Amino acid sequence: ADGGAEILVHIGLETVALSGVGFTARVAQGQKVKAGDPLIEFDLEFLASRVKSLISPVILTNGDAFRIVRRHQNRAAKAGEPLMELEPLAAAKGTSTSAGAAVTRELTVGAAHGLHARPAAQVSAAARRFDADITLSVAGRKASAKSAVALMALGVRCNDRVTLTASGGDAREAIDAVAPVIEAKGEETLVAATQPAAESRRQMKDALCGIGAAPGIALGCAAHLRVADLPVEEAGAGIAHETSELRRAQAEVRSRLERLAASGDRARRDILSAHVALLDDEALTHAALALIETNKSAAFAWRKAVRGAAEALEKIADERMRERAGDLIDLERQVIAALGGNAPRPAVAIPERAILIADEILPSDLAGLEASRLAGLVMARGGPTSHVAIMAAGMGLPALVGAGRGVLGIADGTQVLLDADAGVLYLKPDQILIGKANEAAAAAAERKARVLSHAGRDCRTADGTRIEVFANLGKGADEAAAAVGLGAEGCGVLRTEFLFMDRTAPPGEDEQYAAYKAIAEALGGRPFILRTFDFGGDKPVPYLSFPPEENPALGIRGIRGAALWPDLVRTQLRAAVRAGSSIMLPMITARDEIAAARATVAAICRELSLPEPRLGAMIETPSSALLADQLVQEADFLSIGTNDLTQYTLAIDRGHRLLAGRLDGLHPAVLRLVARTADAANAAGKPVAVCGGIAADPLAAPLLVGLGVGELSVPAPVIPNLKAAIAGLRIGECRALAREALALDSAAAVRALVRARFSKEA
Ligand code: PEP
Ligand code: MG
Repeated sequence: ADGGAEILVHIGLETVALSGVGFTARVAQGQKVKAGDPLIEFDLEFLASRVKSLISPVILTNGDAFRIVRRHQNRAAKAGEPLMELEPLAAAKGTSTSAGAAVTRELTVGAAHGLHARPAAQVSAAARRFDADITLSVAGRKASAKSAVALMALGVRCNDRVTLTASGGDAREAIDAVAPVIEAKGEETLVAATQPAAESRRQMKDALCGIGAAPGIALGCAAHLRVADLPVEEAGAGIAHETSELRRAQAEVRSRLERLAASGDRARRDILSAHVALLDDEALTHAALALIETNKSAAFAWRKAVRGAAEALEKIADERMRERAGDLIDLERQVIAALGGNAPRPAVAIPERAILIADEILPSDLAGLEASRLAGLVMARGGPTSHVAIMAAGMGLPALVGAGRGVLGIADGTQVLLDADAGVLYLKPDQILIGKANEAAAAAAERKARVLSHAGRDCRTADGTRIEVFANLGKGADEAAAAVGLGAEGCGVLRTEFLFMDRTAPPGEDEQYAAYKAIAEALGGRPFILRTFDFGGDKPVPYLSFPPEENPALGIRGIRGAALWPDLVRTQLRAAVRAGSSIMLPMITARDEIAAARATVAAICRELSLPEPRLGAMIETPSSALLADQLVQEADFLSIGTNDLTQYTLAIDRGHRLLAGRLDGLHPAVLRLVARTADAANAAGKPVAVCGGIAADPLAAPLLVGLGVGELSVPAPVIPNLKAAIAGLRIGECRALAREALALDSAAAVRALVRARFSKEA
């Protein structure tokens, strides 16, 4: 305001997680407004069903310079009525005395959504208590830490490294006080301070936020994924033998944990280091050794010792202690597995309509569960393009990832409402929320029925450009048949690695052939692109040994496995050739990789006297996109895997707990690589597809089509909506839109552009 008062109006709590959806700003930053000018519009109904609370704090952020002399509260206010009146304080603090040396500290921002309104207000409130000049700088930009507005304008995000500098008499005290506020992870303090209503905090506790990784809303009951116990013998084979076995298994687990802790994000390292400490816990080892002395086996003794300790921790009401109990059980399994080799895991029982909760769910865990009992998935860790998220989308299961370890404290059987579209998990939802969820589900079902009635037609834009819409498949002919029912015009990628999971040895040629043939038949002669296995990274397989890798995402992946397991590749290629599918190679980075695979395929075809299949290359790395004009000479078609292409372009691990939420395939850097690939394929007259997760994003279709992509391959449940959306597009408009998007500087700007242009369709 004129005169220097800073007023912060925050609409609803945690609404920043909606990234602007539901809000339309009516003013630009820095614009002057007068009383009565609208500032922002929002959809109250939409917000009410999405956010933790509609409580909207109105805060005087520089309370050291102004005083509220009159408040109009506890009654309904009419538009235009004043809410509060301010008076400047005579000797305001904050006008600094700059004497004394500057003190500087490097910090990492902790707040999950960065220094948005509330954390920025907290930082400025802490800074204003000091006379020192305090500034925060990030990437060459600087703002006064005493101004919430200036801090917000820096656009600082969670985990950004920032520099806090103070100069003046109380500089050191200022840094000591302000630094922890910047590093703090929680955001509840200000809510508690400005909004004493117990209601707001209750709502904070009853909902947990994460990243929606597969769409949908589901009401169900919380069920933690517990891996069933490995069986153990009670009797030991001699005290000396069992003692040395226990020591060996502990050492093996320790060295594996230490190796894993050497890479990955900080949270992962912290958890693994805590596991190592628990593994070395003296009391635990003594308890196990005492049992071995009574002629018990090492496995039996270790389980008994760990369970005793875990039960004691579970009785403590503190949530963090209960998490430690979970850690102990995890360790119990690891040591017992190390003692007994790799015995297959028994099946796990889950309740009806289970919302499955786990720190991390592996694709093999999901594959081993009875899908009809599942209503949704929630993971403390992981990113939206992780494999399990892809599987969930294919199964039509809503999934929330990166929801934090708080989800591990939810009791089994608690009723939960998972709104993956909004990225929220509600605990014990009330009737109003359930009603809204049911309404949303009914509206979605009605929309689905409408689009499904047209899904069988060939897909074309409104002005006739043919765009093929294919299904991404995992395994199983049933899935393929269901996809055809939803309008799939073919299979754009069969992720064959799923056939290799949840077992103790790879499938042989005949087993693979039978599986591929059944899928080909279910597709009824439609195009069928089979991708050769892509192990490694977030797709581990227990029975294949990988060399030690500091950074698996940059290690043995996709086609690189051919050097390690040539027989496995040959077996798979033979099965694919016999089944008559096209073949696609993952993680291609060089032309000679395609040439080598083509030579192998040609030799196999000669052996089998069968025609050579079409051979395509996946474009999943910046190098392959940049050299697409060369690769396309060697390949019959290109298919862009935007999940990996985004990970490698933005240098963010797909599974990174903290950063994976930033992976957005609509980033202009990724779009430029898509454009380059599409141009190369179109110039060579060869088909080009996108089969990464972005193809299923409602905002992506106009851009991808506009960039010249002719085929989109997506999880089957998305197909009807996608076909309907494409039918409403005009190719000329899409091309113009794509050109504009390529010139933008962030994924958020691209999304805003598409939303503005296609607001109805989106
Ligand atoms: C991709 O990377 O986009 C892709 C389709 O392959 P995957 O997700 O299986 O790595
Ligand atoms: Mg990939």
